[in-house]
Amino acid sequence: MSKKIIFSGMRPTGSLHIGHLSVVQNWAARQDEYECYYAVVDWHALTTGFEDKIPLRELARSITLDWLSVGLDPEKCSIFVQSAVKEHAELHLLFSMFTPLSWLERVPTYKDQLQQLGRDGKDLRMYGFLGYPLLQAADILAYRAEAVPVGEDQLPHIEFCREVARRFNHLYGPLFPEPQALVGKTPLLPGVDGRKMSKSYNNSIAITASPAEIAAQTRQMVTDPARVRKDDPGHPEVCVAHKFHKIYSADRITELEADCRAGRVGCAVCKKELAAAIDRVLAPYRERRAYWEEGDRVERVLAAGQEKARAAAAETLRATRAAIGL
Ligand code: SF4
Repeated sequence: MSKKIIFSGMRPTGSLHIGHLSVVQNWAARQDEYECYYAVVDWHALTTGFEDKIPLRELARSITLDWLSVGLDPEKCSIFVQSAVKEHAELHLLFSMFTPLSWLERVPTYKDQLQQLGRDGKDLRMYGFLGYPLLQAADILAYRAEAVPVGEDQLPHIEFCREVARRFNHLYGPLFPEPQALVGKTPLLPGVDGRKMSKSYNNSIAITASPAEIAAQTRQMVTDPARVRKDDPGHPEVCVAHKFHKIYSADRITELEADCRAGRVGCAVCKKELAAAIDRVLAPYRERRAYWEEGDRVERVLAAGQEKARAAAAETLRATRAAIGL
C-alpha cells in the first residue's frame, strides 16, 4: 500500500532556535510513515517582508542545513525551495478564480497580523498578504497531501485549505483530498525572558548554540520572583526554566518540581542541570551539521528534492488543468 502524503513548510527567516525545534522534530518523526514534502516557503516570506531585502537564497540554504542537522533525512523526504517549483504559482492562480474574498478576509490571522504589524509601521494591505492562505493551500494541494504537520495557530489555515479543496471538487470533479492537521504535542516555549521566543528579542537559544552559549542563555531565564534565598520554597509554575525542564528533563520532572517547592535546590543549580539537558539534545545536531556543511551537500539535497517535488506538482497541475478544461 502506498504511503499517505504530507506537506509542510517554513519561512526562511533566519537560524532555527529551540522554539522551532518541536516543529522540525514533528516533521522528522513522520518521515518513515509518510511520503513527505518539506518546503522552504520563500514566497511566503515576501508576503510580509517584501520591503526588507531579505537574503532569501542564503537563508533558504541555512534553514535547510538546520533541518538536516535536526534529522530530516533526504533519502526519506523531499526537501526543496517553494519558488523553484513554479507549479505552486499556477495552482494559486487557478484557485484564486473561485475563492471568495470573504473567505480570505475572515481568516483570523489576517486581521490580527494586519493590526500587529501595522503597529510596527508595516503597511500590509497588499494582495500577496491577503492571499497567502490561498498560496498555502496551493502548496499543500500541489502534492494532494492528506495531512499537514502544523502548530495549533495554523489550524484555521488548514480548515481554509479544506474549503478550497471542497469547492474545487464541487465545481470540477473530485481531485483533491481534504487534508487533516497533524498537531505536534510539544507546547510552545517562551523566550528566556518570558516573552515570545524570538531572535530579534535576543531571548532564544539557537539550535547551533555551543555549551557555553546554552549555559549563558539558561542563566538569563526568569525564575520565581518570590524566591530570594535558595532555600525559599519555589513555585515552578511561574518559572521559565521549569517550562524548559518539562521538555528537556521530562524523566526527572516530578523530582525537580518537588525539590523546587521544598526549597531543596537553588535556581543556579537547577539551571545548570537544565543547560546540560538542553546540550544533550543539541550536541548530536551540531555533529550532523558539521557533515552537511561540507562542500555542496545542501545544494544537492535541494536539487534532488526539487526534482521530485516538481514531478509530483506537475502531475497535479496537469490533472487540475484537465478538470477545469484548460
Ligand atoms: S529551582 Fe528551578 S524550577 Fe524552581 S524557581 Fe528556581 S529555576 Fe525555577
